[in-house]
Amino acid sequence: MYDFAYHKPATLADAVKLLAADPDAKAVSGGHTLIPALKLRLNKPSALVDLSGIAEMKGIRREGGALVIGALTRHAEVAESAEVKAAIPALAYLAAHIGDVQVRNRGTLGGSVSNNDPAADYPAAVLGLGATVHTSKRKIAADDFFLGMFTTALEPDEILVAISFPIPEKAGYAKMKNPASRYVMAGAFVSKGPMGVRVAINGAGPCVFRQSAMEAALAAQWSPEAVAGIKQDADGLNSDIHGSAEYRAHLVTVMAKRAVAAAG
Ligand SMILES: Cc1cc2nc3c(=O)[nH]c(=O)nc-3n(C[C@H](O)[C@H](O)[C@H](O)COP(=O)(O)OP(=O)(O)OC[C@H]3O[C@@H](n4cnc5c(N)ncnc54)[C@H](O)[C@@H]3O)c2cc1C
Repeated sequence: MYDFAYHKPATLADAVKLLAADPDAKAVSGGHTLIPALKLRLNKPSALVDLSGIAEMKGIRREGGALVIGALTRHAEVAESAEVKAAIPALAYLAAHIGDVQVRNRGTLGGSVSNNDPAADYPAAVLGLGATVHTSKRKIAADDFFLGMFTTALEPDEILVAISFPIPEKAGYAKMKNPASRYVMAGAFVSKGPMGVRVAINGAGPCVFRQSAMEAALAAQWSPEAVAGIKQDADGLNSDIHGSAEYRAHLVTVMAKRAVAAAG
């Protein structure tokens, strides 16, 4: 390892100050993405600002018609939460299928969404439910948050604090996973509720995106058959050792069908 400073602030205000004071410092939550990146020398921050001691970034609570989940909430906590299972079972299901048990016990909602890996699970739920991202500076609508591969609207010294998920009438999630890592090859999160009918596709492209033809079809008729005939264009989709763009395009339709069936 190379030398870097380590800070563990107890408040959000102190964490923001530490990040603002040093443009080469990086926040760390579960460390399940950042620490491997440091070991591979893909990232060389001058300091790590460990967010894990900040109480105001923890917890799951219901606020009116939404579930507000703190950024430091680990995947296993979301998967096992009675509150999440009752309000948005598709979100508990998604969290329960992230990685393996070690990853679910360390990885956090905020870390995953801030990182915006194209193959991550949570971005599909954030976009597919029309959630709102609460940061140390502002509130950002899901439609404005995910900007591209590993890129979000967050500024370098901006901390993701919580995410507010509107509670839908129906929601479902399906993914074709990489059998080794469980990362997403192609997935679909569908919902019908206060934010309208939404279909978010993850894993298939460089960044999670909404599938508008499927949204229109489901708005007219909510059934797996409504999306079965809609083909995803393979142009611009990911093509790698795990699968071609054409294969992923095919999976998009299959996963959307399964997600609607799961939503009921
Ligand atoms: C073997 C393995 C398998 C995995 N499989 C899956 C999978 O199937 N599906 C899936 O979705 N993910 C998977 N992951 C990723 C896992 O979910 C990570 O936990 C997640 O991507 C990052 O969360 P973290 O809390 O560990 O973030 P960290 O590693 O701590 O941070 C990741 C990035 O986000 C930034 N960051 C962290 N927290 C915040 C915050 N609150 N505000 C602003 N920036 C922040 C950091 O600076 C860093 O750039 C896997 C990881 C491993 C190691």
